[in-house]
Amino acid sequence: MTARLIDGKTIAADIRQEVGEGVEELIAAGGPRPGLATVLVGENPASQTYVRMKRKVCGELGIESFGHELPADASQEEVEKLVKELNADPKVHGILVQLPLPAGLDEEAILRAIDIEKDVDGFHPVNIGRLAQKGREPLFVPCTPAGCITLLKKAGAELEGANAVVAGRSNIVGMPAALLLVKENATVTICHSRTRDLASVCREADILIAAIGRPEMIRGDWIKPGAYVIDVGINRVDDPEAKRGYRLVGDVAFDEAKEIAEAITPVPGGVGPMTIAGLMQNTLRSARRAMS
Ligand code: NAD
Repeated sequence: MTARLIDGKTIAADIRQEVGEGVEELIAAGGPRPGLATVLVGENPASQTYVRMKRKVCGELGIESFGHELPADASQEEVEKLVKELNADPKVHGILVQLPLPAGLDEEAILRAIDIEKDVDGFHPVNIGRLAQKGREPLFVPCTPAGCITLLKKAGAELEGANAVVAGRSNIVGMPAALLLVKENATVTICHSRTRDLASVCREADILIAAIGRPEMIRGDWIKPGAYVIDVGINRVDDPEAKRGYRLVGDVAFDEAKEIAEAITPVPGGVGPMTIAGLMQNTLRSARRAMS
């Protein structure tokens, strides 16, 4: 059997187009131009790339982007002061503090300083807390995990009552993905580095979300026949034949898993493009709410 490919690139492009149209409609209706502020502390090259990509897509969709950069040795007070200024700025509808922050900064306090109405990344403790509680709705949901759920639904996965396994329990991917699956009425198992027999747990999964950060660790014979597999991992592996000397692979051994699964995301081109698309959606929603 060869699995259906869950094409995150195309799905994310459709979402971006909808957001672009939504921006025009909002402005035509007398609303504000949505604005996203990015806060980059330090010079982590991956973070610089992510912020650049986010700002570029803002430009393509008519969302105004306000880039703020602070040096790696910025103090806690400086970062929080900037966040508070952005909270007060009516042109800013979303505030994105690029993670990870340099060592020494209190990440939770900085995320808590963001006005929850502008928490388009969904990492404010109140938004995460609401995600964890029955009957409570967060204002915003973290974009990568939300993208995983969108991909599953677009692929036609039945989430209600399904056995879902999330490999990884990080604050930014694994844990919120698991909470979202619970909200969808799946029966969820969360695995992590101390899980005794990851392979056996994965073999029970109707839905498998892999967010570990280990190249191709999840093998084909760990996949339950007919499972839906969402591979969040983005890992560089050396490849002398590739132009850059490396290629990107996921946490799942794609070529093996595709023979067993019902549907699977590729890496790249699966979950990756969904993150920025979700951020743009959240920024538009926030601007709409500011209008109403
Ligand atoms: P992380 O390092 O914060 O967390 C990794 C998790 O995997 C931890 O909970 C850890 O317990 C678990 N883990 C590690 N080794 C394990 C093992 N042997 N068995 C079972 N569990 C194990 O990573 P993260 O930030 O959650 O990111 C995970 C992956 O997703 C990375 O490859 C990252 O690049 C990728 N990622 C992609 C996107 C995107 O596509 N937009 C966004 C964020 C992260």
